[in-house]
Amino acid sequence: MLDNIKIVLVNTSHTGNIGSAARAMKTMGLSQLCLVDPVKAPDGHSSALAAGAGDVLANAKIVDTLQEAVADCGLVIGTSARSRTHSWPMLEPRSCGRKLISEVKNYPVALVFGRENNGLSNEELQQCHFHVCIPANPDYSSLNLAAAVQTLCYEVRMAFLEQKEVPDSKEEDYPLNEDLERFYTHLESTLSNSGFIVKNHPGMVMTKLRRLFNRARPESQELNILRGILSSIDKAIK
Ligand code: SAH
Repeated sequence: MLDNIKIVLVNTSHTGNIGSAARAMKTMGLSQLCLVDPVKAPDGHSSALAAGAGDVLANAKIVDTLQEAVADCGLVIGTSARSRTHSWPMLEPRSCGRKLISEVKNYPVALVFGRENNGLSNEELQQCHFHVCIPANPDYSSLNLAAAVQTLCYEVRMAFLEQKEVPDSKEEDYPLNEDLERFYTHLESTLSNSGFIVKNHPGMVMTKLRRLFNRARPESQELNILRGILSSIDKAIK
């Protein structure tokens, strides 16, 4: 179960942090590390700080984009040291751990961490269903990257140990991220063709719609209906 929880590090600068994150993961029983466009590939510093978690480091997958990293995931949670202006559905670390454990029974899930200097971009945060913020000291809330990985992986482990005692909740069938992205592309194209989105002045429409659909979290069948509606509009426009 824990092997289907991906820890995704985006554009990490310090190779030492990659090793420390691998160690933090392994102590909590996690093994799937994915590096999105690291500034430098893992090196000796990484290995030194990974210590006994060299296997997690050696198996780390390196990809170019966040979209690629989470394409096969049905639940993607982004981390942030502060809540942003366009507020997104938020989770507490404890409910974040529980949600990952409850949904990983159905598909791979991901927890996404940002750059040391400026976190995740708004575009990256918008690819996540939920955001989680460790409620740290408001005067100094930014943890070291690997410390944040440790804290949230600990919550995953607590939820994992806890779920052995509670019965399964109802199973939902949510679409994978790649299906959601296809839906957003389709939506944008239909809205452009219908004239609702003006190509040179798109404004914030797609951001706001992404926020709406992320909040609603359509199930697979509902997403199929939405795609069907878009296709019927496409046909009518032609
Ligand atoms: N100045 C950056 C902080 C980056 S810290 C910013 O304001 O976004 C590097 C990464 O560690 C963050 O992108 C996030 O993934 C994680 N992190 C640090 N502090 C965190 C906190 N309090 N809650 C959740 N994640 C945190």
